[in-house]
Amino acid sequence: MSSPLSLNPTLEKLPVYQPGRPIEEVARELGLPAADFIKLASNENPLGPSPAALAAMQKVLANLHLYPDGNAFYLKQKLAAKLGVTPGNLILGNGSNEIIEFAGHAMMSPGAEVVVSQYCFAVYPIVTHLFGAKLVTVPAKNFAHDLPAMLAAVTPRTKVLFVANPNNPTGTLASREEILRLVDEVPSHVLLVMDEAYLEFLDEPVDLLPLLRSGQKPNLLLMRTFSKIFGLAGLRLGYGIASPDLIAALEKVRQPFNINALAQAAALAALDDTEHLRRTRENNTAGLRFFENEFRALKLEFVPSAANFILVRVGDGQRVFNELQKLGVITRPMASYQLPEWLRISIGTPKENERCLAGLRKVLAL
Ligand SMILES: *Cc1c(COP(=O)(O)O)cnc(C)c1O
Repeated sequence: MSSPLSLNPTLEKLPVYQPGRPIEEVARELGLPAADFIKLASNENPLGPSPAALAAMQKVLANLHLYPDGNAFYLKQKLAAKLGVTPGNLILGNGSNEIIEFAGHAMMSPGAEVVVSQYCFAVYPIVTHLFGAKLVTVPAKNFAHDLPAMLAAVTPRTKVLFVANPNNPTGTLASREEILRLVDEVPSHVLLVMDEAYLEFLDEPVDLLPLLRSGQKPNLLLMRTFSKIFGLAGLRLGYGIASPDLIAALEKVRQPFNINALAQAAALAALDDTEHLRRTRENNTAGLRFFENEFRALKLEFVPSAANFILVRVGDGQRVFNELQKLGVITRPMASYQLPEWLRISIGTPKENERCLAGLRKVLAL
């Protein structure tokens, strides 16, 4: 039924984000116990949250009748110290998805152009359309961002350029030279958003923080998250790093208490749990190698990944997704990313990876 309200016309074109399916939802649908399922669909940490984060949240529970610190003083202090920046360089979001929306509020309106790559993270187009801006999608090269072509797509009307490195859903990584050239050559009227959601999985990430410390790049926004390597996706916490002027602009569009008290406490503890991070990274590297070797042996095409998931070509992606689901393995079909023959599999524990592979072999009769 159509609504009698005259809705905001930007809603008409707005794509709907299709998240990885929650275990409980799939279990309900198939009439099976939740314990029968594993989820390798949303690039979550298969080792769970840091135990230190769980303990820190326990301590906060009795004070949940109080509003959280709206400025997250201690968390910003700690993050700033870790990163070698000032708290004035930081903004926190309810997931880094919210930071993307802040960028939209600050920069996008009808007439504005936003440059993204084919196979980009789905939230960039959604936010672009939400603000009635024009999406300029640059064809990918070998599944990866074509950064020179993205630069060439910039016009005087371009307001924002989004780059995720590594990229989701492809897992591709741009070279240091390419990234530095992009940062160097992007015109100063364009906000360059470097989405570093998977940065902590890299052995030698390109460090763009010096450009922010020195104040050289007032048009650069880095985004990171506690959802991936930190294993706190359920708490919704991400952060942006930028020049104090840009941060001040983004702060104006932020809701006062967007970071809840549990998230603040958990993040403070998780930042110190280097052992958990190390184990997560090791598990991920081993899992990636496992899938790559097995896919090679099975002659399944895949995109080499620098992140905590891997894209594999399975034929009818939706069918394979459905069949795997019946076997208790939830993955991510890629039709909404214009990759209908592909499946994205998040790296799990060794046991989960084995189970996923066994399911895949069964479904594909390999
Ligand atoms: C997962 C992901 C995020 C982080 O999302 P949160 O809102 O922080 O959970 C951001 N960008 C990309 C590319 C991602 O894959």
